[in-house]
Amino acid sequence: MPILPIVIGPDNPILRKKTKPVPAVTKDVKQLIKDMIETMKEASGVGLAAPQVARTERICIAVIGGKITPLINPVISGKSKEKDLDQEGCLSLPNVWLMIPRSVEITVTYKDLKGKKQQRKLKNFDARVVQHEVDHLEGVLIVDYATS
Ligand SMILES: [Zn+2]
Repeated sequence: MPILPIVIGPDNPILRKKTKPVPAVTKDVKQLIKDMIETMKEASGVGLAAPQVARTERICIAVIGGKITPLINPVISGKSKEKDLDQEGCLSLPNVWLMIPRSVEITVTYKDLKGKKQQRKLKNFDARVVQHEVDHLEGVLIVDYATS
């Protein structure tokens, strides 16, 4: 399983491209996810999105409840109005730490590795990580949040 190079830089066009949903959980998709998991572990991250490894699929992985979870075609279908502010970093933005407002609770819909549709309610840290990763799939980075 190769470790993939991580795309760096707030102005990198690869990180700014909106991703495309994958039509099916193919061998390629599974291999990509395996490689992303290896890459994230190596980098000691808690999440990684396809654009960060120069791919255009709507796929990310996130540590949810302490477990590395692949999210295929994830959509955040619900967000609490209540937000909190916490520090975030990003594997694509070394040495950048910013206070980012995020919804405390979200509902996320995605497909798992078996191609089965999943819907989960997440809170706090889990919700924060998934919001960060889904932002990547829309070409959004933490530096885009105005901080005051
Ligand atoms: Zn990131």
